[in-house]
Amino acid sequence: MHLPKLGWVKFFQGRPIPGVLKNTTVSRHGRHWFVSFQTEQVVADPLPQDPADCIAGDLGVKHFLVLSDGTIYDAPRAAYAHLRQQITRVQRKLARQVKFSKNWQKTQRRLNVLYAHVADLRRDFVQKLSTTVSQHHATVALENLRIGNMTASAKGTVEQPGTQGRQKAGLNRAILEMGWGQFLTVLEYKLAAQGGQLVLVPAAYCSQACPQCGYTAKANRPTRDRFCCQACGYAKMADVKAAEMLEDRGRQRLGVPLRPHPA
Ligand SMILES: [Zn+2]
Repeated sequence: MHLPKLGWVKFFQGRPIPGVLKNTTVSRHGRHWFVSFQTEQVVADPLPQDPADCIAGDLGVKHFLVLSDGTIYDAPRAAYAHLRQQITRVQRKLARQVKFSKNWQKTQRRLNVLYAHVADLRRDFVQKLSTTVSQHHATVALENLRIGNMTASAKGTVEQPGTQGRQKAGLNRAILEMGWGQFLTVLEYKLAAQGGQLVLVPAAYCSQACPQCGYTAKANRPTRDRFCCQACGYAKMADVKAAEMLEDRGRQRLGVPLRPHPA
């Protein structure tokens, strides 16, 4: 391609470029340079899907996503942990170096490359997961997270993860939260593109309320993973139960019949 001021440069074309070219953007991500082409084309409206084909997902720390049909999706934890370790090590090294020295700058660049890896890993995971979910379900209900604030603060936290003891937990959580935010955004347009929709519902009491008798108490969660109603004995994996309640709320919002959830 021919770029102003640079002339002819080689690039790898990842996929066909359909439509009429509108503009071109060159950007840098970690060590790599990217070029993206914005194009315009007319796309037919997708056929609306049946909203009764509704499922819900619980976004969590232990499992990234648990669907109300019991499917569990985990984030690439081992890979995240490995990168987090490296980031912590390089951050320590950076702290010992003379600010703005040659070596300090080198370490800073290394750190930026690691941050870019975390972002790549997360984007890859979110893209694949949202494709899988949107291929199997037309309508998905998710907890109404306050994404705007969350992503903004999480971005701050990844690069400035606080001090000492909180550092690891803060970074860990920030990575997760950014993943949730991205997942919502990406899933929403993928569902819409095929005539489905994303429904955001409040998650209040989803972890403590019994779907069978309504008894709501902290004690209904004897362990983090297990829900067990202290009043009627209804028991289930906690994340699945929470997802089922989100599904019910989503269905109520859409005005479609509830689906029974066998215990
Ligand atoms: Zn109960």
